[in-house]
Amino acid sequence: MRAPDDAASASAQPTSSPARAMSASADATSSPARATSASADATSSPARATSASRAGRGPANVDLHSHSIFSDGVLAPAQVARRAHERGVDLYALTDHDDLGGLEEAAREARALRMRFIAGVEISVSWAGRTVHVVGLGIDPTDAALVQGLAGVRAGRHERARSIGAALDAAGVPGAFEGARRLASNPGLISRTHFARHIVASGVCASIQSVFQRFLAEGLPGYVAHRWAALEDAVAWILGAGGTAVLAHPGRYRVNDLERDALIGQFSDLGGEAIEVVSGSHTPAQYGEFARIARRHGLAASRGSDFHGPGEGRVELGELPPLPETLVPVWDRWR
Ligand code: AMP
Ligand code: MN
Ligand code: MN
Ligand code: MN
Repeated sequence: MRAPDDAASASAQPTSSPARAMSASADATSSPARATSASADATSSPARATSASRAGRGPANVDLHSHSIFSDGVLAPAQVARRAHERGVDLYALTDHDDLGGLEEAAREARALRMRFIAGVEISVSWAGRTVHVVGLGIDPTDAALVQGLAGVRAGRHERARSIGAALDAAGVPGAFEGARRLASNPGLISRTHFARHIVASGVCASIQSVFQRFLAEGLPGYVAHRWAALEDAVAWILGAGGTAVLAHPGRYRVNDLERDALIGQFSDLGGEAIEVVSGSHTPAQYGEFARIARRHGLAASRGSDFHGPGEGRVELGELPPLPETLVPVWDRWR
């Protein structure tokens, strides 16, 4: 068993944190030579090239949203980095839920592969009674306020997992807490995904998707409401750690148009700079919808698979279409 919490605290040493060094090197203003040489193979993946890379200016295949065993992914951080590289990704971010423990390992592997790496995180947020996710990119994983803030966000997860287990017991699915706990490599981060994997493995449901549809989505018997970070806190932690705040997969939230505009407007007012447009958690129809919304709100756009594991989710690492041409890529700042 790994010890992600130990790794997380180890990465709090500024001198021993390659994740920090890598994210700092991704800042074009502080290290232009490095950013340029690392993107030397920008022309190697023309099929998935972004408009900017076709002009020869930037990375060709950008994936800024992925998960490892430090949250609800199934691969170790180095394995996710390697898989991204194998699929042609040349600017990559690991964005585990509420935890920074995988960044050092992912950064080390990315450096060995000469793939540009951005230190990231996906923060769970409660906004107007709903759960939304905010991705922080280019963060300093040693920033004290961010580290402390995320510890607070993680703190309630264990009790919540027990409550989900009890709710599933009552719904006729016994033993799910133990099953989920066994599947969670990071004991501080038991997520609904671990419950879903356990319930599929035990034969109760045929797919992770169907577990969410029967038990785990809001309003269903295995759903337990939880208070995550406030939107203003999550954005402030990211900005305070030198990062860029990106609203994750806005098409996944069950909000009407007014609520969606209020969420994006507040996020932008707080200093949020981008929304995910081309996302493995969006349908292709939503790429166009959220491209228009990004333009209307004057926000940059991001691209990320939201990869959790082989065979899970709709798309693989690096396997998304390019951002629509007229959008400002959030990664422009790391050219
Ligand atoms: P948690 O943070 O414990 O509430 O778990 C949230 C995670 O569950 C998300 O990051 C997704 O990985 C996963 N998830 C949420 N909804 C679905 C769904 N409908 N189908 C598959 N996975 C989902
Ligand atoms: Mn997840
Ligand atoms: Mn998410
Ligand atoms: Mn995610």
